[in-house]
Amino acid sequence: MQAYIGGIVSMSTVDWPKNICTVIFFAGCDFNCPYCQNSEIIKFSDEHLKDVKDVKKEIRKNLDFIDAVLFSGGEASLQKGPLVEIGTFAKKMGLKVGIETNGTKPEIIKYLIENKILDFVGIDYKAPLGNELLFEKVTKSMTFFKSTQEVIESVRQTLEILRDNQDKLEIELRTTIVPRLIFRKEDILDIAREIDGFGIDCRWSLQQFRSDFGKVLDSMYKDIENPKKQFVENLKEHCLQHFPNLRIDVKAV
Ligand code: SF4
Repeated sequence: MQAYIGGIVSMSTVDWPKNICTVIFFAGCDFNCPYCQNSEIIKFSDEHLKDVKDVKKEIRKNLDFIDAVLFSGGEASLQKGPLVEIGTFAKKMGLKVGIETNGTKPEIIKYLIENKILDFVGIDYKAPLGNELLFEKVTKSMTFFKSTQEVIESVRQTLEILRDNQDKLEIELRTTIVPRLIFRKEDILDIAREIDGFGIDCRWSLQQFRSDFGKVLDSMYKDIENPKKQFVENLKEHCLQHFPNLRIDVKAV
């Protein structure tokens, strides 16, 4: 079996807190977030095709040093066959398995949970789901075949699946704070309100956009100033004033 793989990091201590993991970056994505820092791997291009058996070999090689495998991307959930194959292999090797996702494939996340392949889900909460215009601006996810509202509905379903399985999973929600795009107090507070409404027991990370990291998709975001750590901290405090039960982390330097 072949898979579109944009790259593999043999060992990472930062991508999944408290775990040392091999990170597999699946190529191809159904979003086109203008601030995407992995823009070189969001297309399904033949140059990214790799044999799944070579990916397994890489995991086996790292076994003495890692305790987990993390699927990242791109959008890993668009490649069900390879995900199931590699995830099942990793579990047999005694490793934990996690996925980072934009949430548009609820049926795949459900399948992986039901088959006991997943231990961790990091899901992007890119914009308020109740604000279709802003969600589209942040994700550029609408296509000829799928409206923004349908994309939002998929993300909502994934969040509901996570909520219904939160006793079996470690869950992290993530929002990237991007100047000019998704940074206003009222928008971040809308996300906080929605997360509070979902009732998911998880941490919510507010991440600082870093224009100096990776290759940014839209050149307009290439040279903008990164939001200051204090700015992100202030957003956190603002949300906590209204929703004190949320567990909010700030990822910023
Ligand atoms: S930032 Fe957006 S476009 Fe880039 S990989 Fe993530 S979901 Fe896809």
